[in-house]
Amino acid sequence: MSASTSGGTVLSVVVPMYNEEEALPAFTARLRPVLDSMGVTYEVVAVDDGSADKTAALLRDFMEVWPELRMIRLRRNSGHQAALTAGLNLAVGDYVASIDADLQDPPEKIAEMLELAQRDRLDIVYGVRDDRSTDTGFKRWTAGAYYRLMRRMVGRQVPSNAGDFRLLSRDAVEALRELPDQQRVYRLLVPWLGFPSGEVYYTREERVAGETKYPLSKMIRLAVDSITGFSSAPLKLATWLGTLAFFACILLVGFSITVYLAGNPVPGWTSLFVGILFVGAVQLICVGLLGEYVARIYTAVQRRPAYFVAEDTARPVGQSAARPVGRQSRV
Ligand code: UDP
Ligand code: MG
Repeated sequence: MSASTSGGTVLSVVVPMYNEEEALPAFTARLRPVLDSMGVTYEVVAVDDGSADKTAALLRDFMEVWPELRMIRLRRNSGHQAALTAGLNLAVGDYVASIDADLQDPPEKIAEMLELAQRDRLDIVYGVRDDRSTDTGFKRWTAGAYYRLMRRMVGRQVPSNAGDFRLLSRDAVEALRELPDQQRVYRLLVPWLGFPSGEVYYTREERVAGETKYPLSKMIRLAVDSITGFSSAPLKLATWLGTLAFFACILLVGFSITVYLAGNPVPGWTSLFVGILFVGAVQLICVGLLGEYVARIYTAVQRRPAYFVAEDTARPVGQSAARPVGRQSRV
């Protein structure tokens, strides 16, 4: 561990929240006793990710009776990973845990994570789901495929079924803050750091209230960001598909010449049409893949901050400046 930057706070618990008014009362009621009984100084960093409901108002109410609760309100909905970034950037603890607000991750495990990290001097402790029986079949299937692909791309150190419930040491948090990445996928960036890590197992519970804030469109976005952030393999797909189409073409030409010489010219329309469609589809897919990477470069070049902080209750108004992702120098 590096020297403490925390003014004595041992643990920060970062909780991204988007329209979680329904889950919030149950969440705070369960989290607080756990943290109070751990016997360490802590702060709870609730990141209100531009909620349109009463999440911020509820947090303010809770803050009156829970001094360790701190709210960072983002100006607009910036997404789960950006909200996490805001929380990690502003948390002050020697260790920083992140947890969802819907009680799908059991807060009790945070104590276990901290104990393990301190005992074995680990920088990362993953919360690993050993049972997804409460998830829908579709979610389990897509999650399984996602983690298999990620292990192939990023490396074997990516634990299967580890989401964004984890504990990080101050060193790991600082390392993440130094990264220039804009579209961050923490479940890949954290294992990529390669710091000493451990695992704590838990059963994924059902969302306590409200609806999932991860519709299929956001899941697809996360998967695309994961792939383009760590692998250029899809770019090479164009070469392979092109080669395949080329050889298919040669075969077809050979076939056409043979039947022509045999006196039965191919009645051409259908084969021609299929051929054109095939080549057209291959080209469009390849251009689309290229587009994903160009979009990534575009975003990286723009260097826009991933979020804007409207309010940080731990700081007087006016000091809570928006921070760009990481600590880039803007030359
Ligand atoms: N979340 C967020 N911003 C978003 C979407 C989600 O801060 O744009 C938060 C959400 O409030 C929750 C966590 O991210 O605390 C995980 O979201 P959710 O539980 O809806 O995802 P799921 O568990 O269904 O994958
Ligand atoms: Mg959830």
